[in-house]
Amino acid sequence: MSAETPKHTLYDMPVSNNGARCRIILYKKEISPEEVTIASPMTLGGLKTPEYLKLNPQGKMPLLTLNDGDNTEGIPESDTISRYLLSHYAGQGPSFEPNHTKSNLMARIHDMYLTTIQGCLYKATPPFGIYRTRTDAIAEFKKQLLVMEDLLVEGDLPYLFGNEVTLADATIFPTMLFANYMLPKMEGGILDSDENPLPPKLNTWFHNVMKHDDVFQKVFDEVQGGLDAWEGNNRWDPIFLAGQRDLEDPTIFDKIVAKEIPAEIVYEDDKVLAFKDINPAAPVHLLVIPKSRMGLSRLTKSSAEHVEILGHLMMVAGQLAKDENLGFSREDGGGGRIVVNDGKDGGQEVPHLHLHVLGGRQLSWPPG
Ligand code: AMP
Repeated sequence: MSAETPKHTLYDMPVSNNGARCRIILYKKEISPEEVTIASPMTLGGLKTPEYLKLNPQGKMPLLTLNDGDNTEGIPESDTISRYLLSHYAGQGPSFEPNHTKSNLMARIHDMYLTTIQGCLYKATPPFGIYRTRTDAIAEFKKQLLVMEDLLVEGDLPYLFGNEVTLADATIFPTMLFANYMLPKMEGGILDSDENPLPPKLNTWFHNVMKHDDVFQKVFDEVQGGLDAWEGNNRWDPIFLAGQRDLEDPTIFDKIVAKEIPAEIVYEDDKVLAFKDINPAAPVHLLVIPKSRMGLSRLTKSSAEHVEILGHLMMVAGQLAKDENLGFSREDGGGGRIVVNDGKDGGQEVPHLHLHVLGGRQLSWPPG
């Protein structure tokens, strides 16, 4: 090992969410670049090369290497790296309170639940981890934020649990940046645009910690700098609704869903609503709609993200179209016609996807 070779290397990138916690620890403890240098995994050829995989079989960032002469030992996983740094440099800078129970619990909730959801949200198509839809995954993400929120006390504290920075501060900070910046981009109708993605106590802490602590501000700038670059290179385009929320005006169907105006509802579950058409074109004429439009102002706006809701709408329409009590005949096989009008040529009037379910008489074909 030459005199210039740093003892350790942290393979990580500024935009990397999990590695950012290790960088917070390095910066807060003022561990010099001669001691631990930060390098891109590309300097080892990239995440999927045999050299890298030998040191970190997961092929992910971050990776800490301990350079000891000819032997290079790899420590993967940000929590393991963080704890190595905390014990190895225990006498230097803040301790990060590695034995603080609530801090450890929060970091654990973060690593077990939040990051597993976050990691899969960048994809364009389902499933999102164990979740079929992005909406379900985001709902679980927000539930876990509330579990973390409950661990906090009210107040204007600089750090999560008081005046001392903890491992939880370093662990969750980069992910809260994600929540603030990316969740509103990804959400189709879950959040109002003026609603804050973070619950109140986490939100207060997130902004306070940057005001009080230059290192958190520095890491914010590093991660945000990477995200800003994504804006420029169309990284968001394949992601459903990312950066282009459902901006169509609400329609009369939203009022029906909200029960602000009456409708003869014939079926309802958590995802869809079916009601009688006010101007029936057949003895029985129902409309089946998604409760949350999710960008589906019309069928031609659909993408892989909508497979679940589209299937559900069709299934409900099929069930309703055999219900004699609604007026569908079962004689000679009965049935009806399930129609989606799309856009101007299709004669669509209401820009909120709906299936017409018509029946109760012999319908002619072709339609006009
Ligand atoms: P489309 O032409 O495919 O957009 O169909 C819109 C349908 O919504 C029409 O058949 C209308 O009769 C129906 N519609 C409009 N307003 C209401 C309402 N308040 N309640 C029930 N159906 C409605």
